[in-house]
Amino acid sequence: MIIMKFGGTSVEDARAMKNVMEIVSGEQQRKPVVVLSAIAGATNALLLSAQKALDGDLDKAHIELNALLERHVLLLENLIDDRSDIQQLILTIRKRFDELKTLCQGIAILGELTNRSLDAVASVGEQLSTMIFARALAEQGLSVELIDARTFMMTDEQYASATPIFDRIAAEAAVRILPFLQAGKIVVTQGFVGSTIKGVTTTLGRGGSDYSAAILGAALNAEEIQIWTDVDGVLTADPRIAPAAKKLRVISFREASELAYFGAKVLHPSTILPAVEKNIPVIVLNSKRPLSSGTRIVADPPKSKVAVKSIASKKGITVINIQSSRMLMAYGFLSSIFSVFQRHQTSVDLVSTSEVAVSLTIDNSSRLEQIVSELRAFAEVNVYERKAIICVVGEQMRSTAGVADRVFHALNDIPVTMISQGASEINMSLVIDEDAMVQSVQQLHKEFFEPVPELDLFEQVDA
Ligand code: ADP
Ligand code: ASP
Ligand code: MG
Repeated sequence: MIIMKFGGTSVEDARAMKNVMEIVSGEQQRKPVVVLSAIAGATNALLLSAQKALDGDLDKAHIELNALLERHVLLLENLIDDRSDIQQLILTIRKRFDELKTLCQGIAILGELTNRSLDAVASVGEQLSTMIFARALAEQGLSVELIDARTFMMTDEQYASATPIFDRIAAEAAVRILPFLQAGKIVVTQGFVGSTIKGVTTTLGRGGSDYSAAILGAALNAEEIQIWTDVDGVLTADPRIAPAAKKLRVISFREASELAYFGAKVLHPSTILPAVEKNIPVIVLNSKRPLSSGTRIVADPPKSKVAVKSIASKKGITVINIQSSRMLMAYGFLSSIFSVFQRHQTSVDLVSTSEVAVSLTIDNSSRLEQIVSELRAFAEVNVYERKAIICVVGEQMRSTAGVADRVFHALNDIPVTMISQGASEINMSLVIDEDAMVQSVQQLHKEFFEPVPELDLFEQVDA
């Protein structure tokens, strides 16, 4: 069996969904489990409506919800032929939106918006897209089973970024999904959405449908996990930043993990782990160009001479510089620093140390004030906001001299705040001002990929 995950733009309207239906029916023999995202923009709209309700602006909340309702109605009217099917679906969808409006009213009255409520609201996007898609497939005469992800995607209670409980998921998925696949049905389910053991809806965090696909792939021992999106595969950089970006034919699990972690949005950062554990290849494909071969992410790709394979970047980074004259002698100093971050559930991305100072970066600054005030109890602390991380990645960086020289040559006079060579030795990360991010990525891209260093590895992306 295979997992086929389609992201928001792949199901954004009737045309896109028809495309997806064709792709899925072409793979019917391989027993597909189809994992869908919400239609493009739906999750943002849902979260915004909850936020507007919290601000006491119920009118705005309703406007958002009504616009989203209309998009879904339009989608199914253009996708499904049978009038009575359409009527029935519209009734169900309207009911879901009525429930959402009631939820928003509650949020406005209480003046409180918990992550638990946010998950209840956000999860509706995937419930709607899968409902419409499954019905459309069935109308084509295909044998389909729509399975609510909350019956198998068990998670802890950390709402808004819940952690999956792998053994429970494997056990539930075997019972809830396998019999339908064995009976020759195409299974359709929601990405992003999960449930606590007690049955309360959770989500895996933004962009989490990729993660759902990988979790499910590992749980069901899939032969491959396909991630269908709006670009040809994993590229040498974000094409929105570097339009000349080329597609990589194949990369390693390690490279993909580093890229995802440092901002390559094409994959959710946790996606690779479940695939690595079961050694299941992940293939990133373009739903608008299904014949293109995509990027294969595998354990051991053929060796390549190219040092740098891709450049990731992410904005919204905060650098915290911690100095203490006592540090030189005090063992346990680093652990007291990290325990502050642990207490505030804030993960640290990059660290660089000298004898008297530690610099580190975080991308979630919601607890910044508390963190800084606790650190100040034992050290001098400086904070630099609006920074960006740029990360160059490649397995062969380990054994290639001169990558750092080329990076600094390419960046020319763009000031670098911090440098970190990853412990895995397959990446090098730099912190720069956020405003310099686009230019830096473009200059690095020119240096490493224009022209392409090895034709076998890279492929031109057609417009
Ligand atoms: P989906 O809705 O299918 O999950 P996303 O928007 O989450 O799609 O991810 C796809 C986007 O990721 C692309 O449109 C592209 O702009 C961005 N992206 C960032 N870095 C890369 C990269 N290295 N390779 C490919 N795409 C990238
Ligand atoms: N719909 C969710 C989001 O927008 C999950 C996903 O698309 O991966 O974050
Ligand atoms: Mg995504």
